[in-house]
Amino acid sequence: MFRGRQQGLFLVLLSVVSFVLLTPVACQAAPHYRVVCTTGMITDIVRNVAGDRAEIKGLMGEGVDPHLYKPTRTDIGALMRADVVFYNGLLLEGKMTDALIRVAVSGKKVYAVTELLDEQFLLEPAEFQGLYDPHVWMDPDAWAQAVEVVRDKLIEFDPDGATTYRDNANKYLTTMRELSIYCEQILQTVDENQRVLVTAHDAFNYFGRRFDYEVIGIQGLSTQSEAGVKDIERIVGVLVDRKIEAVFVETTIATRNVEALVAGSAARGHQVRIGGKLFSDAMGAPGTYEGTYIGMIDHNVTTIVRALGGEAPARGMQGKLASPEDGR
Ligand SMILES: [Zn+2]
Repeated sequence: MFRGRQQGLFLVLLSVVSFVLLTPVACQAAPHYRVVCTTGMITDIVRNVAGDRAEIKGLMGEGVDPHLYKPTRTDIGALMRADVVFYNGLLLEGKMTDALIRVAVSGKKVYAVTELLDEQFLLEPAEFQGLYDPHVWMDPDAWAQAVEVVRDKLIEFDPDGATTYRDNANKYLTTMRELSIYCEQILQTVDENQRVLVTAHDAFNYFGRRFDYEVIGIQGLSTQSEAGVKDIERIVGVLVDRKIEAVFVETTIATRNVEALVAGSAARGHQVRIGGKLFSDAMGAPGTYEGTYIGMIDHNVTTIVRALGGEAPARGMQGKLASPEDGR
């Protein structure tokens, strides 16, 4: 009987030991650290690169203007609980600076993704008065470097995941290269003198540099500055003189300034229309193709090309874009 009890105890011990030994292996796929990101474009990079090794939270959703966004108490709580924080930087999140500094001072890993890029890729437009332009994601080739920054920082934080991060980043970067080539090809189908992109604010300088388009934003670098009557008149002059067919609204900005351009042009006998809504500083609805970085840029470029008289498939690079018939 005693021997039987000993045997039983041994079996219990054996199962405890094997549970302890095997459990960490079985749990490896579960997230084991927290990442908080500001804009959707950065959240999309981290989701793609970190996969399920991290619990990822993006603070700014669809239609949110990062220039004006003030963090809520819930956001501050999430930032304080995070292990790693990624934000855009170059003053894009102008009203979050204090919160981000507080989190960094508390000893967290806090990274401004665009501020870690090679300076030669950053634009410093004259009208920005010595500041860099933060809208780097508008050029898929420049944004690819942001993916490399995130990959390297995740490897630094969690070296055990290095292979996963490298493989995931490579897959994402491959699609980004395909996107860049698609954009280049369809943007070239637009008549050369129509290659002018007029939008609500100055978010498209990187796009203009990469694809050789002239870009005109009614409001400046940040949406915090108001456009004046003179700005509207000047742009109407360009539209009329060059017979530009379409201008574009943005999902994060009120449409009144762009509507003023349409009215101003009409008053001078030139019909310009609103060519569609572009995702400038935020992606589309969560769970949709337009709610991903690839889908956002695919939507923008496909919309621009079709409105300016070029040729692009209605459903974009991968046949995944929503069309007006979908009722969305
Ligand atoms: Zn902006």
